[in-house]
Amino acid sequence: MPLSPDQIAEIEAARSTPRPTLRAVSEGMEAHLYRAHEVLDHGFIRVIDYMGDDAAIVQAARVSYGAGTKHVSNDEGLIRYLMRHWHSTPFEMCEIKLHVKLPVFVARQWIRHRTANVNEYSARYSILDREFYIPAPEQLAAQSTVNNQGRGAVLEGAEAARVLEMLKRDAGQAFDSYEQMLSQDGQQGLARELARMNLPMNTYTQWYWKTDLHNLFHFLRLRADAHAQYEIRVYAEAIAACVKDWVPLAYAAFEDYRMGGVTLSAKAIAVLKRRLAGEVVTQEDSGMSKGEWREFEGVWG
Ligand SMILES: Cc1cc2nc3c(=O)[nH]c(=O)nc-3n(C[C@H](O)[C@H](O)[C@H](O)COP(=O)(O)OP(=O)(O)OC[C@H]3O[C@@H](n4cnc5c(N)ncnc54)[C@H](O)[C@@H]3O)c2cc1C
Repeated sequence: MPLSPDQIAEIEAARSTPRPTLRAVSEGMEAHLYRAHEVLDHGFIRVIDYMGDDAAIVQAARVSYGAGTKHVSNDEGLIRYLMRHWHSTPFEMCEIKLHVKLPVFVARQWIRHRTANVNEYSARYSILDREFYIPAPEQLAAQSTVNNQGRGAVLEGAEAARVLEMLKRDAGQAFDSYEQMLSQDGQQGLARELARMNLPMNTYTQWYWKTDLHNLFHFLRLRADAHAQYEIRVYAEAIAACVKDWVPLAYAAFEDYRMGGVTLSAKAIAVLKRRLAGEVVTQEDSGMSKGEWREFEGVWG
């Protein structure tokens, strides 16, 4: 279970004492504040705090913008303009702080996003919970044969059962050893900072993670993408759902230009022009590599 009854009660208590504020408030985000959105088998994301809304992006842009503003008549148009032209700093005026509970191997991918502030649960100071990520059967897939960084068909039958059994058994055994090493019952007990090194990568950790909207969009672009590993993608998707409610105009622009859009190389533009002129273009005379061509065809057919 991601949260204990006590933790749920704490969250509800925090939500039951609203205070008036002069700060910008996003009604959509207020509905999410403090609440846990469950992810994987024991994980969650919770919005702990946020700053700004769609209007904050527009306000910041207009301060630094100058003559161009006259041609952008409304907030939505301006936000779309900023997104389209990679004018990123106005989006940095909005911030979000999340509490995330996630498996260590997901945290390892996540922490590569350096443009954030992180404070992680200390396994030197505290004893970890006996909680491991065990994939749902439909996520237990074989190595992909076409993508070295991906998975293929779902494992079936005896192999699936054997793998699940190994995952559960090994994690349980490692945690038993962890507890035995820590124990001070008739022995000194190994330090927590050392005992933890025997635990598997599917052990859950927790952190507070704070970033601004520009860098969050960058994170979501990479991690909510179909090519991202499923286990981090579901976290990105849960965050994206909150962001959509927080800054609906900015999120719509992000969905359109970043998630739904593609970047064209000069070679790709040249091929498209030749095709529009009726020419049949092949990979060999496109100037693109096989990989580039495959990706190009994936978008344009
Ligand atoms: C599908 C996928 C596969 C991946 N595979 C691997 C892999 O096999 N091995 C691996 O090691 N990593 C891998 N990564 C991680 C990837 O290389 C990036 O480290 C990660 O996505 C973070 O991106 P970022 O550096 O752009 O983000 P951030 O660290 O948040 O940085 C955001 C932007 O800030 C700028 N920036 C931040 N810090 C610096 C700096 N010190 N110097 C210059 N510019 C900076 C850059 O413009 C950067 O794009 C993978 C990522 C994805 C999405």
